[in-house]
Amino acid sequence: MGKFIPVSEPWLTGKELEYVQDAIKSTFISSEGKYIEEFERKFASYIGRKFGVACSSGTNALILALRALELEKGSEVILPSFTIISCALAVIYNDLIPVFVDSDMKTWNMNPDEIERKITSKTKAILMVHTYGFPCDVDRIVEIAQKYNLYIVEDFAEAIGSEYKGVKCGNFGIISCTSFYANKLITTGEGGMCLTDDERLAEKMKRLRNLAFIPEKRFFHYELGFNFRMTNIQAAIGLAQIENIEQRIKKKIFIGESYSKLLKPLEDEGVISLPPQDPQHKNTFWMYGVLLKNGITADEIMKKLYERGIQTRPFFYPLHLQPAFERFSWFKRENLSISEYLGKYGFYLPSGLTLDEEKIRFAAESLIDILKK
Ligand SMILES: *Cc1c(COP(=O)(O)O)cnc(C)c1O
Repeated sequence: MGKFIPVSEPWLTGKELEYVQDAIKSTFISSEGKYIEEFERKFASYIGRKFGVACSSGTNALILALRALELEKGSEVILPSFTIISCALAVIYNDLIPVFVDSDMKTWNMNPDEIERKITSKTKAILMVHTYGFPCDVDRIVEIAQKYNLYIVEDFAEAIGSEYKGVKCGNFGIISCTSFYANKLITTGEGGMCLTDDERLAEKMKRLRNLAFIPEKRFFHYELGFNFRMTNIQAAIGLAQIENIEQRIKKKIFIGESYSKLLKPLEDEGVISLPPQDPQHKNTFWMYGVLLKNGITADEIMKKLYERGIQTRPFFYPLHLQPAFERFSWFKRENLSISEYLGKYGFYLPSGLTLDEEKIRFAAESLIDILKK
């Protein structure tokens, strides 16, 4: 095999090493130390929220957010079927019931009409997830949440830097959660954060991530907490990544727009759909997704791309079909046809920040060549 193009690669070209060295020299390598608060403050302020609570992963950020809202056991939380399992786990681990909704073919995000259709007297929250960098239909979802008095918890792990009508994703939830896993727009290796404007919720999440210790009395606990702490070393990496975040976003958009230009003829011929675009919103193309429309499954095309040294990933396998959930009393067989279509015919091309024009062209032209055969 000649060249190999990974689907994603972390981009660590700023002051990561300098800050990590500093953290190590300071001996603060656990979850105390100056980088945590600075990272929380800078990231929250970049997005435009008052408080940031860093934690050990995006999944744990979601668990923490839903825990902090203290929803009554058995309450229903509406979330997309077409997303990562973390979203459903956060619901289930909080003794809540996940209610899966279908996606909208135009946005690949949750369909607001479907949300409204699934609301019952037990519904307490909507978990709003922006998929692959393109914002949800925020206005409609906010309107529904207000009408039925529901919380919105936002998951913008795939939409750091994306904007809905000029407002950054991460501003639309009572708590908004993100991930800093290695393939996310900024990374801390492993890590996540909850953002909120509510000081009481921020304090609660800080307490819960740290075993619910309280400052007044050592080793005395009113609540059941978690160890979801982020380390000072991770925060040091994150801080360095924020310093060049605009450059990262620009590069992602360049990659996305380059692919779109090269693949446009295939879309015009009706062979594939390109990722959602809308001049009103900013898509940061976290991952550049392609949806096949010629009846060939993503698996087949991905295998052929891999033979040419191009690594890809399939779209999410719908959550409403996950065998892990079959044993729950709330599980029901349903047909969410758009999620199922996306799961079967979608995949994403290499989308990492280390890509250059030549690699983008090679990946796109290989796909064109494979689909023309
Ligand atoms: C990556 C991701 C997560 C999970 O984050 P981890 O840090 O891997 O736990 C959650 N939600 C979405 C939408 C993601 O893309």
